[in-house]
Amino acid sequence: MSGPRTGGCLCGAVRYRVDGPLRPIVMCHCTQCRRMTGHFLAATAARRGHFTLAASEGLRWYSASPHARRGFCERCGSTLFWEGEGRDYISIAAGSLDDSSGLAIAAHIFTADKGGYYDIEPGAVQSPDGTFRAEFPAR
Ligand SMILES: [Zn+2]
Ligand SMILES: [Zn+2]
Repeated sequence: MSGPRTGGCLCGAVRYRVDGPLRPIVMCHCTQCRRMTGHFLAATAARRGHFTLAASEGLRWYSASPHARRGFCERCGSTLFWEGEGRDYISIAAGSLDDSSGLAIAAHIFTADKGGYYDIEPGAVQSPDGTFRAEFPAR
């Protein structure tokens, strides 16, 4: 999996580019992600040095906790980014990618908080408490 990849929000007021590998997708079922997205967050990620904003006039940030902030578009409401304090990557909502081909789901996290109306596919990697391993591909 290698860049460049592009993506953005529904209205186009936020656009980004990733010049480097994308991490496999982590599905976060925590209460904050469920409320923000309306379902759960399917997130890939890019190393900070590989991530560039190409359009950011719609980008706003919301901090649901002191240690992370969530990026969204103020015009169209799209969920876009998650940035954790001290992390060397930015999480990117997989649905915002123009082309997500080749990416696979690595794990489901915070499954203890998942919604009651759906099931996680049998055999999928699950982490009740949010710890996970999902390595960036070499390139
Ligand atoms: Zn937008
Ligand atoms: Zn979450």
